[in-house]
Amino acid sequence: TRVEQCDVLIIGAGPAGSVAAALLLKQGRRVLVLEREQFPRFSIGESLLPQSMEYLQQAGMLQAVVEAGFQYKNGAAFVRGDRYTDFDFRDKHSPGWGTTYQVQRAQFDQVLANEAERQGAQVRYQHTVTAFDADAEKPRVAVRHTDGTEYIVEAGFVLDASGFGRVLSRLLQLETPSNFPVRGAIFTHIEDGIDVPGFDRNKIRITVHPEHCDVWYWLIPFAGGRCSIGVVAETAFLEQFKGSETERLQTLVMQDPASRALLENARWDTPARQIVGYSSNVKSLWGKGYALLGNAGEFLDPVFSSGVTIAVKSASLAAAALQRQFAGETVDWESEYAIPLKKGVDTFRTFVDSWYSGGFQKVIFYEKQQPEVRRMIAAILAGYAWDDSNPYVKESKRRLKTLEEICS
Ligand code: FAD
Repeated sequence: TRVEQCDVLIIGAGPAGSVAAALLLKQGRRVLVLEREQFPRFSIGESLLPQSMEYLQQAGMLQAVVEAGFQYKNGAAFVRGDRYTDFDFRDKHSPGWGTTYQVQRAQFDQVLANEAERQGAQVRYQHTVTAFDADAEKPRVAVRHTDGTEYIVEAGFVLDASGFGRVLSRLLQLETPSNFPVRGAIFTHIEDGIDVPGFDRNKIRITVHPEHCDVWYWLIPFAGGRCSIGVVAETAFLEQFKGSETERLQTLVMQDPASRALLENARWDTPARQIVGYSSNVKSLWGKGYALLGNAGEFLDPVFSSGVTIAVKSASLAAAALQRQFAGETVDWESEYAIPLKKGVDTFRTFVDSWYSGGFQKVIFYEKQQPEVRRMIAAILAGYAWDDSNPYVKESKRRLKTLEEICS
């Protein structure tokens, strides 16, 4: 078999992989990206957070994203029964971007991968990574192309950005169970036909199920009159609903009167899909010759739309560590990569736990909220989960618990 060489091999051309590729190219590295699918391909994870803009900018990809014409986004709205509250991300505690986009991922991921290619990465589609040899002096990866050819790549370092493919965590048995109960999501894209006055297309809309506080819906408006709609619940709850995925999703959406009214003119033109058991964790985010980026490492929960932001943040941290490593310095991947990355992930985890126990819902719907506290919460919802100047980051568990008590 043929053996190829590169400085950094990246598995997967999602947001984590493309942003990492661009950042490494700026350091003068030879980067090879191997992607299993042919692009454009569907992916879930469509509502971005403003914090992600910083990393798209760092990677020199922001102009391409802006010019693609995605739906502008400036906040998040929450609905439960007749209660409504919204957060404008521009009015937030942390410095940095206050707006972002809601994107069809087929197009968004293609824009980023094309940018990585334009900047000098080799991106190969329909090339699947099938094996990893960590014992060799340099990490070696086995690849299979859809035409049947197989080859080996020997790299200075491997970044696993394979998302839910979790290539290295499967091959190296790094997986550990997530602490969250097993939840699933049913979702689709619709032509929404929403003509309700005052409906804000610039915000993701999160609706809590009228009876079950741990069941919720997302409505993510796109440019061009379409939107993404989905429901999240424990799998045991979802299993009660029979029929096709589209019928199950429609039944669940119609249980909420406000959603039913909002979507009365909707055209359900795309079959719904279901994904279950997406939360995952790993023993370690790095090892000899490799690191895990984005979803290939850990995935929490979709409720705060944090996935892409964590993915591009991880790409930025890994690229910085690799810059030092290729310069011949010793890098401690635990303290320079894993710990800093997990800091923000843990902030989100605190809020995810509180969302499902109902505490955070009391906080956001509380009517006498102090403006400064709301600005701190808005910063977290905007993705600034690594900013220690925010008390809800620095001491997120303790502060959120106190706030829940005040709002109860
Ligand atoms: P991905 O985008 O998954 O990219 C990985 C790529 O690797 C894929 O293209 C795949 O084809 C490729 N690959 C896999 N295996 C191999 C292999 N063996 N060889 C080569 N290539 C391979 N996040 C948000 O930010 N906002 C949201 O609103 C949001 N909503 C979500 C809703 C749900 C129900 C779920 C489950 C997740 C949601 N997420 C959301 C999370 C989001 O989907 C992910 O966090 C994000 O896509 C991770 O990006 P990534 O670059 O790590 O991986």
